[in-house]
Amino acid sequence: MKKLTNHFAALGKDFYTELAPQGIPNPYSVCVSRAVADEIGLSEEWLISFEALQAFAGNIAPEGSQPLASVYSGHQFGLWAGQLGDGRALLLGELETTNGNFEIQLKGTGRTPYSRMGDGRAVLRSSIREFLCSEAMHGLGIPTTRALAIVGSDMLARRETNETTAVVTRVAPSFIRFGHFEHFAYRGENEQLKTLADYVIERYYPECLTTRELAANPYAALLAAVSSRTALMVAAWQAVGFCHGVMNTDNMSILGLTIDYGPFQFLDGFNPAHICNHSDEQGRYAYNRQPNIAYWNLFCLGQALMPLIEQIEGSSDAAQASALAALEGFKSEFPAALQAKMQAKLGFPDSQDGDKVLIEDILKLLAKERTDYTIFWRTLSTSVATNNFEPARDLFIDRAAFDIWLGQYQPRLQAINGWEGSAHVACSNLMLSSNPKYVLRNHLAQTAIERAQGKTDGVKDFSEVARLLKVLETPFEEHADCQALAGFPPDWASHLEISCSS
Ligand code: AMP
Ligand code: MG
Repeated sequence: MKKLTNHFAALGKDFYTELAPQGIPNPYSVCVSRAVADEIGLSEEWLISFEALQAFAGNIAPEGSQPLASVYSGHQFGLWAGQLGDGRALLLGELETTNGNFEIQLKGTGRTPYSRMGDGRAVLRSSIREFLCSEAMHGLGIPTTRALAIVGSDMLARRETNETTAVVTRVAPSFIRFGHFEHFAYRGENEQLKTLADYVIERYYPECLTTRELAANPYAALLAAVSSRTALMVAAWQAVGFCHGVMNTDNMSILGLTIDYGPFQFLDGFNPAHICNHSDEQGRYAYNRQPNIAYWNLFCLGQALMPLIEQIEGSSDAAQASALAALEGFKSEFPAALQAKMQAKLGFPDSQDGDKVLIEDILKLLAKERTDYTIFWRTLSTSVATNNFEPARDLFIDRAAFDIWLGQYQPRLQAINGWEGSAHVACSNLMLSSNPKYVLRNHLAQTAIERAQGKTDGVKDFSEVARLLKVLETPFEEHADCQALAGFPPDWASHLEISCSS
């Protein structure tokens, strides 16, 4: 690995605690992502070396690393939770690559001053889920932190039962969260708040300084830019049927990346009110609440940035107006982004009157029948491609209801300019590249986890993790030898209980 630098460390001691990782004994490689390695310029030779294994385990420090746990706060389940922080993650530093700078973080390397009651460890189960989902989201074209490697160890951690532990190496341009801003705002530490905001603007949102109309108030411009990115991220989640499960403000990336994969789930049968997190008794983070929660979280970020916005605006009234205006974009950008995604799922190259109703109607029907969300959209795509709608119709009990919808949808398609010529192929290609064949359903992850744990026959078998990774990296392709991964979930999948415990 090239020598690391650590720009975050330059922010100063108020932002973190420096400490060395507590590695895991006798680590073994569970999986590595060659795609991530390529992106950040790590050679194949190094990736499979003993040195890499020990570095991913936290047992040796890569050259130039300056490990630290950052401090943040946040709102959890709607309530102010006070100080949190990297309780089990350590930022090692930053790699400068031809694709930009990437921070390297280890998750599961022992207690930090921010661990509270936790043990600082991550179990293999949740590490496999995080690793695979990070790369699955990337494969789907959804902004996310990435995962480079998982290494496991026979060292145990206590959860509901004893489980073996692991370390995930995460990669992202930055791991800064809304909660980092809330932390300093809540404490009235405006100087640190400004240092943090200036750092984020300079490195990740330079347009807030260089574009004349934004530079008038770069902090309000930052809020608007984060709102836009968050709107795009959540629209992508909704379109693909992804539930995050724990949208606390400390799990919201300032770069609009999906971060902190815990009890996430891709919808099986379409239930808009689906709650994937077993610990979320009120359903605060239900699938259909995610957009509103994202806005609520952005509002918290706005409140945190208020002292900086006010310093420029001169009065609290003007600052409030400015912050609200910055947040306003979300209210139009989110629905516009979602509408565009849904249009593409239906194969429409442009938007027309009546499309909204077509989308609403099919979602209502899917909800009424709890039709499998991923399978429906993929089947519709192949139905359009082959001009045979029987497989799509077969997904419904109320076929007459589907036919009524189809009676609106087909004429809309056929009216597309050039339908009899190249437009048909273009539309079905749009659908096939918008409606994935493969998503990381809970039961797929669970099967890979149980094999990796050696639960079936006592032998730790990581091949299913690798197989899933390969398919999920290109989820819009057919993968003829992996058809079973695109099938309906088995009955036992609905009994899986995924909670915050990881
Ligand atoms: P999460 O719900 O996973 O986003 O975690 C919320 C907070 O709890 C973060 O500050 C985490 O770092 C911390 N945390 C979660 N699990 C552990 C653990 N096993 N050990 C220490 N801290 C943890
Ligand atoms: Mg978290």
